[in-house]
Amino acid sequence: MINIKDLHKQFDQLKVLKGINLEVKKGQVVVVIGPSGSGKTTLLRCINVLEQPTSGLLAIGDKVLDFSQQVSKRQIPPFRRLTGMVFQNYNLFPHMTALENVMEGPVTVKGESKETAKEKGELLLRKVGLADKAGFYPYQLSGGQQQRVGIARALAMEPKVMLFDEPTSALDPELVGEVLKVMKDLAAEGMTMVIVTHEMRFAREAADEVIFMDGGIIVERGKPEQIFSSPKEMRTSQFLNLIQ
Ligand code: ADP
Repeated sequence: MINIKDLHKQFDQLKVLKGINLEVKKGQVVVVIGPSGSGKTTLLRCINVLEQPTSGLLAIGDKVLDFSQQVSKRQIPPFRRLTGMVFQNYNLFPHMTALENVMEGPVTVKGESKETAKEKGELLLRKVGLADKAGFYPYQLSGGQQQRVGIARALAMEPKVMLFDEPTSALDPELVGEVLKVMKDLAAEGMTMVIVTHEMRFAREAADEVIFMDGGIIVERGKPEQIFSSPKEMRTSQFLNLIQ
């Protein structure tokens, strides 16, 4: 579903991604861990083309962007729609209700009718356990509820892949579980997911594969039990010792 070859990203002189190779199969859940500044967010933003890679190849399904050649601006919006992004700080529109937030993309980007978008939006809010909060504005919702709206909003665009950038790190601890549960349900339904998170228990329970990044490269990857119980690389075990 995702195929990344020799992806590089540089901000001015700063090389942030230094040759990422990654394959994610349909339905796979990949959790990306690693120290702050290692390039995890930048990798997600490159997959979503919120950042344009400096070079390399990015394929999602049968669509390919080759950044070693000129990528035209026209190619980016349809490619971006293949992935749905969930942000650390929810990024909801504050002046719209939960339902309006979920309807916004389908109506303005996909040209869906308001009636269809509303029907689908209500189903998605039910799916994330917020059927009764459709008319609430973000400020009337808890962080966990806002993030679940964020997930419903991303799903409304019917992406092939869901990307999560530290989706629970802004939440009070007691609200983390409800968001992780929605993510686990999605995984169980077969959604392809790439998740940057510090929730190691979630990684153990839900990931098919864990990727450890440091210094802009993938240092190590493997099944969660292998990475957490017997990491092969010194840098991985040092990182895990610091956080566990
Ligand atoms: P992580 O998610 O692993 O903490 P990031 O991908 O956020 O790492 O950041 C990796 C490095 O890239 C950091 O040094 C960060 O300051 C830098 N960086 C990220 N985005 C930008 C940007 N838009 N402009 C310049 N530097 C950036």
